[in-house]
Amino acid sequence: MGYFRTYTEIDLGAIRRNAEAIKAYTGKRLIAVVKADAYGHGVVPVTETLRPVVDMFAVATIAEGVALRQAGIREPILVLFSSLSEQAVQIVAHELTPTIGDWEFADRLNDVASKIVRVHVNINTGMNRSGVYWAEAVQFLNRLQTLPRLDVEGFFTHLATADETDKRFVFIQLDRFSSVLKEIANGGELIHAANSAAALAIPEAYFDAVRPGLSLYGVYPASERPIKLEPALTWKTRIGWIGSIAEGEGVSYGLTYKAPRQTRVAMVQVGYGDGYPRALSGVGEVLIGGARRPIIGRVCMDVSVVRLEPTDNVSVGDAVVLIGKQQNTEITVDEVAHRAGTISYEILTQIGARVPKKYI
Ligand SMILES: *Cc1c(COP(=O)(O)O)cnc(C)c1O
Repeated sequence: MGYFRTYTEIDLGAIRRNAEAIKAYTGKRLIAVVKADAYGHGVVPVTETLRPVVDMFAVATIAEGVALRQAGIREPILVLFSSLSEQAVQIVAHELTPTIGDWEFADRLNDVASKIVRVHVNINTGMNRSGVYWAEAVQFLNRLQTLPRLDVEGFFTHLATADETDKRFVFIQLDRFSSVLKEIANGGELIHAANSAAALAIPEAYFDAVRPGLSLYGVYPASERPIKLEPALTWKTRIGWIGSIAEGEGVSYGLTYKAPRQTRVAMVQVGYGDGYPRALSGVGEVLIGGARRPIIGRVCMDVSVVRLEPTDNVSVGDAVVLIGKQQNTEITVDEVAHRAGTISYEILTQIGARVPKKYI
């Protein structure tokens, strides 16, 4: 495959097994969320892999849906955030399943549709970032019935606190959602609310289908771990330079690390230009030769520096693991996120375009 500087290895088998495990555990239909390039795992290979397991794919944007159609994906594709009227034409042209969250978009969609368009209606039960407000939803749905070319296939809501220990607001949201569903006479064979956190911990949120993203990739959104998930992504790079610095010398921009004694250091070929967080400056760790080694000084755009032990038997070109396992040691994406002061979702989706993906 030629020379790779830094790259990720994606285990498609793990993604498929995770999807099967979630489907078996919940016993529901599966809407696989593959937005943001399948959380940095590469949307086309991931989607191809999941085709036999899932009932529907979900993406965030119309462009993401169109890209899947152009890659030959024929399964239903739900666009979670579609609301601008000028996007209605593309929805129809590419046979995407849009989310309805306001009247203007629904009306426009009905106008441009040449045949029946299946839609899902997003009910805002407290996330308060999109959707039809729950207390006005029944009235809205009655009005929607007057648009002859829209077929309401599904209803969904999104939970704001499913990953928190205190689940009280989840149940307030589910009560609001259920109060709307009770009033709906017809339509909506596909009702869904559960993201990964709810799919793993809140059976009351299951309805007809679950809608996980993160967990498909083998990462847990919260402390509840009722099933075994396999992390699908390993992020690797290589040592690009090895040096020895004298006591009192500094390392990298700003010389924020000062060597307390003669110190062996290695430059590793990854930086914030690859999506490796600059927040890991002085706090991150990597795996070299199966052992943890600390990042010293500031993470640069293209490279970072780690401190070696005097006894480390390493050479330029050796493998470095940033996320994943090396021999018996592991750095999880959760650990990296914690050290960088963010969440696993952000670490995965920020892995840069400069980082090629190898599929295994
Ligand atoms: C991103 C997203 C999901 C998936 O959430 P995870 O926490 O990754 O499982 C589900 N539903 C909606 C509306 C989303 O935006």
